[in-house]
Amino acid sequence: MTLTSNSIRSLLEIKDPNIKIDDIFDSFIHHTKVRIIKACLIIHQRRCPLCGFEDLVHNGHYTSTITYTSDNASHPIFIRLAKQRLKCKNCGHTIMAKTPLVNKYCNISNRTKAKIIMNLQDDRTQKCVAVDNNVSPSTVGRLIDDYRELYPVFPEQLPKHLAFDEFHVVHHQLHFICIDGGGNTHRIIKILPDRLAEALFSYQYDQLSKPMATVIKHLEIVLNAAENEQSNGPDH
Ligand SMILES: [Zn+2]
Repeated sequence: MTLTSNSIRSLLEIKDPNIKIDDIFDSFIHHTKVRIIKACLIIHQRRCPLCGFEDLVHNGHYTSTITYTSDNASHPIFIRLAKQRLKCKNCGHTIMAKTPLVNKYCNISNRTKAKIIMNLQDDRTQKCVAVDNNVSPSTVGRLIDDYRELYPVFPEQLPKHLAFDEFHVVHHQLHFICIDGGGNTHRIIKILPDRLAEALFSYQYDQLSKPMATVIKHLEIVLNAAENEQSNGPDH
């Protein structure tokens, strides 16, 4: 049985009917075997959005390779999508086809982003989530920043068990993170501006001097020599 464009779209759960699958084949990217879905995105528009004339003509494609979700992390899937472009012969305005599959000029599908956000709800490292979704750890970091509202900070609601440790954010910078150490929630309480002991003690002094700090029963800090050295160095 030959797979049709619609059946492949259905298999990949791509809902946009304007995406036509042309080919599907295996290839190698950076010595890793990957599956490439070759597709084009068609635009159905006759009237120019700028001047209103029905004078649009085909003006080539914008092709990009988009990271897509895969059940098998060792065999990633990419969609090589050619987005149709149109040009208005009357005013010269150009338009490019849009799709909910991926944002404009972005190379990571919205489905992949949603999966990363879901993965981040679990107790897993940023690097582990990145490997599973075939993206870089810095991409995961950017998504955390973009969807910060999903990871709320509760500076005014201190838990019974406070735990501090350092963690990597984008550009390999280290920060202290303060989480609720009780139960299995590991709710983020605060991300400190750096990894220095000064910032840590300053935050603790501010928080522990508040009346609400009386609820704290247990305080755990992972502090290595590097933080102490930097904190006690000539610049501090
Ligand atoms: Zn026009």
